[in-house]
Amino acid sequence: MKTRPFISNIELTNEGHLSLFFIGTGNAFTKTSFQTNLLIIKGDQHILVDCGTLCSYAYENLYNGKITDIKNLLLTHPHADHIGGVEELALAGKYITKRKLNLIITDEFKKLLWDESLKGGIQYSEEGKMTFDDYFNQVKPKRIQKKPFEMFEIETCNVNLKIFRTRHVTTKKNSLKASQISYGLIIDDKVLFTADTQYNRPQLKYLLDKYKNIEVIFHDCDIKGFSRGVHAAYDELTTLPPEIKAKTYLCHYSEAVNTIDALVDGFAGLAKHWVYYDFN
Ligand SMILES: [Zn+2]
Repeated sequence: MKTRPFISNIELTNEGHLSLFFIGTGNAFTKTSFQTNLLIIKGDQHILVDCGTLCSYAYENLYNGKITDIKNLLLTHPHADHIGGVEELALAGKYITKRKLNLIITDEFKKLLWDESLKGGIQYSEEGKMTFDDYFNQVKPKRIQKKPFEMFEIETCNVNLKIFRTRHVTTKKNSLKASQISYGLIIDDKVLFTADTQYNRPQLKYLLDKYKNIEVIFHDCDIKGFSRGVHAAYDELTTLPPEIKAKTYLCHYSEAVNTIDALVDGFAGLAKHWVYYDFN
């Protein structure tokens, strides 16, 4: 993996390699690193992973892009810093671009996303009651395992995605069953992106044992541990084996990121926006 600085305009295509670009790397509260929303680019295709409340602002003002150019979307879970900008994208599809967004989503999340998050804002229209399918083309991943946690897989937009169920917010400690729907991703078997998750060492170990070609991990990190049990606390992550830390970049961090030295503590570093992560 090599990094390359952003120069002038966000790229939605490249020569064919896998490239990742963070629209932001911050948590739900920081205003300086624009939440954690990630763009995957490969060849003539792209996928935006999450679209939070600040996503379109950052996309257009920091990177000179047009949010209406986004055609493919994947959402990891229904918190506003990850889906707060989706209503705007859906309405832009209806009124501006006149095309539906391709949304990579499981049946379970599709139902929850519409019924519990989006329906209140966009079900009414001058054409009558709208449904999920009026705004989005569902691109449905196939379930490849049920236990110890659900995993789905799909080949789309030139990439292989494995989507695994994570434990982010739970009403019962350590219970996946009692947790809000949330997913992490493995991209082309090379990159593991946890999205929002509690510290879950057994799951990380399971995935790294199963997918031996994972080169880089982008891991959720709560620097001060205020939201321990919802996000992975920094002091928990520092207990990971050195070989795992060495390939782990931290994201979803707060302003308190200035109080740590991730490199000294054995990590690959902090995930950054303004940077392309290029893979061969
Ligand atoms: Zn979250």
